[in-house]
Amino acid sequence: MAKALPDQYNPRKLLMKIHLDLDGAIQGDELWLCAWCYKCTERCPQGLQLTEIFLLTRNFASEKGYLPENPRRLLEQIIKSGRSMAVSEDIDEWRQEYGLPKIGSDIGDEALKEVHKIMGDLFERRVERRA
Ligand code: SF4
Repeated sequence: MAKALPDQYNPRKLLMKIHLDLDGAIQGDELWLCAWCYKCTERCPQGLQLTEIFLLTRNFASEKGYLPENPRRLLEQIIKSGRSMAVSEDIDEWRQEYGLPKIGSDIGDEALKEVHKIMGDLFERRVERRA
């Protein structure tokens, strides 16, 4: 990610910011740019688990109400539909071409209740704080 967005993302600087200025780190967008590829975790000669540190910091940020637009929209989509992305009619047509059944956009009330049960209302509260 640092190679793809050199002006916006540097995991070393982000780690330093989390250490020295946690409030600033949780309010910025940089925290949300790690792609979770775990490359740094596998290669770090000091055994630092940056990915886990960033995950914990993201959780802390969202608990404090700092959730950027994209993850907030993703959560709203999951809360609303039970899916991380909408299933378009095109997807269902492609599936039919391969002899697969339609998925449809509605997962059904029972399944949606299960999703909400698993996610808990914490997510909804996090989404509402930033709306
Ligand atoms: S997991 Fe590590 S290497 Fe991968 S994008 Fe995040 S900081 Fe970069």
